[in-house]
Amino acid sequence: MSYRGDIAVIGAGVVGLAIAAQVAREHREVYVLEKNETFGQEISSRHSGVIHCGIYYPEGSLKAKMCVAGNHILYELCERYGIGHRRLGKLIVATSDEEIGELQILLERGLRNGAEGLRILSKREIKELEPNVEGVAAILSPATGVIDSHALMKYFIAKAMDGGVQIAYHTKVVGIEKVADGYKVTVEDGTGNFCFITRIVINCAGLHCDKVAELAGIDIAKAGYQLHYCKGEYFSVGSGKNTLVKRLIFPVPPPKLTGVGIHVTFDLEGRMRLGPSIHYVDSIDYAVDNQHKQFFYDSVRRFLPFIEYDDLEPEMAGMRPKLQEPGGDIKDFVIRDESDKGLPGFIDLIGIESPGLTAAPAVAEYVASLVGELLRE
Ligand SMILES: Cc1cc2nc3c(=O)[nH]c(=O)nc-3n(C[C@H](O)[C@H](O)[C@H](O)COP(=O)(O)OP(=O)(O)OC[C@H]3O[C@@H](n4cnc5c(N)ncnc54)[C@H](O)[C@@H]3O)c2cc1C
Repeated sequence: MSYRGDIAVIGAGVVGLAIAAQVAREHREVYVLEKNETFGQEISSRHSGVIHCGIYYPEGSLKAKMCVAGNHILYELCERYGIGHRRLGKLIVATSDEEIGELQILLERGLRNGAEGLRILSKREIKELEPNVEGVAAILSPATGVIDSHALMKYFIAKAMDGGVQIAYHTKVVGIEKVADGYKVTVEDGTGNFCFITRIVINCAGLHCDKVAELAGIDIAKAGYQLHYCKGEYFSVGSGKNTLVKRLIFPVPPPKLTGVGIHVTFDLEGRMRLGPSIHYVDSIDYAVDNQHKQFFYDSVRRFLPFIEYDDLEPEMAGMRPKLQEPGGDIKDFVIRDESDKGLPGFIDLIGIESPGLTAAPAVAEYVASLVGELLRE
């Protein structure tokens, strides 16, 4: 066991990479361990790509704070380093008088969270901004946009590697054992098993973070870390309809905020898609069921009447790592050093679902401050 490191980050998704870039220092040995052949092959490449502004999440939650902070940091990084993005703005559209009350609650929550520039639009103002959208009122969020998440991850990798971080692909963590001066981490790298010692372990394993916590000896049922997979499908919108709205268009979200509702988003080339839906599932699979097309069509036609059934084609699906049980209440991100479970220096990030892409740079700052305390710097 000749290798000794300071920090092992498990997972090369956007969160692990942002953290690696943030904790990199001269004279610090930092490793990112990734089981796949390259970075960002799981949650971080199957999402809406939206830079959220922080409207939805309960006041004071990590989701709210890190979304608002991450929004600012992301735009700054995008502008400074030429990372592809479009600050399109978004409307959350109410289509009935009952939904206007919901909009008001959302607006107040968003303002308390510090989301920037929010205001209510009347029916007439909606028509002025988006003539093809139907609604009785809407929230305008000018600070919502879309980002090239692949380019963002490449930026974090470049920054991490400049800081001396080493990234090991094809390297699956299969064992974590507390030892006197840190953790003995066992990995499988295709040629066999290999162990090394590290002072700090950061668990950013996305859909597998509960299993990784379990490897370290955490009783995940007792800790409330058991993940529920929740699939989100997307359908693309063809027939040249992508030019008919300029902004991202969202409905009033469903109760308990399992998701933010089937919405319109664009990629950086301007292709339009609808999604993501919400289906709790038992295992990870990314197939899109064409039989769900009717549901997608029905979900949006009240506020996007120009979309026709035949415009929709199955596109892709993503998988949410939810702490929230089916029918249960919204859960916050878990980001903590597990000292109180007898595991000082083992930092868990559990349930990093949306707005995890937006929040990633703020999450990284937060984790770096935990690391600083642990290393007493
Ligand atoms: C449908 C959907 C839509 C979304 N839309 C948005 C959005 O519009 N805006 C937004 O802000 N957020 C959005 N999100 C959330 C965002 O995409 C995620 O929060 C973020 O990508 C999570 O990144 P991650 O690094 O935690 O996970 P991942 O990208 O999954 O990375 C985890 C990595 O850990 C690796 N790993 C796992 N186990 C091991 C192991 N034992 N050993 C080594 N490596 C391991 C995996 O291979 C993986 O690469 C969305 C998510 C979904 C599912």
